[in-house]
Amino acid sequence: MEYQKTFGADEEIRGADLPIDLKLPAKRILDAGELRVTAVATHHGDCPSVAYRVDSNNESIVFSGDMDASALPNLIGLAKGCSLLVFHCAVLDPPNSPTLLYSLHTAPKHIGEAARDAGVKRLLLSHIAPDVEAASRSVLQSIQASYKGPVGFAHDKLRVRDVSALR
Ligand SMILES: [Zn+2]
Repeated sequence: MEYQKTFGADEEIRGADLPIDLKLPAKRILDAGELRVTAVATHHGDCPSVAYRVDSNNESIVFSGDMDASALPNLIGLAKGCSLLVFHCAVLDPPNSPTLLYSLHTAPKHIGEAARDAGVKRLLLSHIAPDVEAASRSVLQSIQASYKGPVGFAHDKLRVRDVSALR
């Protein structure tokens, strides 16, 4: 029963309400000594969505999740000065992706501006759509027009052991 060590035993699950209204402030949802997790509402079409920041010792990683550009002020606030921002990159700059997708995802130009405005130390792109992968050079150029730090493309099964070693 490797998938669940407590199989058959009593379990306790503690839930936390997540901030899903863009007007709500970021909320600390876990405070376990060195490990702290903070959530803030983002926006993904008509689905509630949330970005997370994980702080541990001197490192901090922010996960955008799926979000469109309307939630960037919240994301920028959450990501201020973080070690690594993992941002979903599923669309090309307008008008090169279907219009509907811009109400779900953030374009590279705005990803770069957000990374710059938040002063993040590194940017890792994830949730990479095939057309984004095929245009990776222009995606990178669009981001680097505003963000001057290191930018990487994530790939399946990527493990980051040392954030500062990530290029
Ligand atoms: Zn998506």
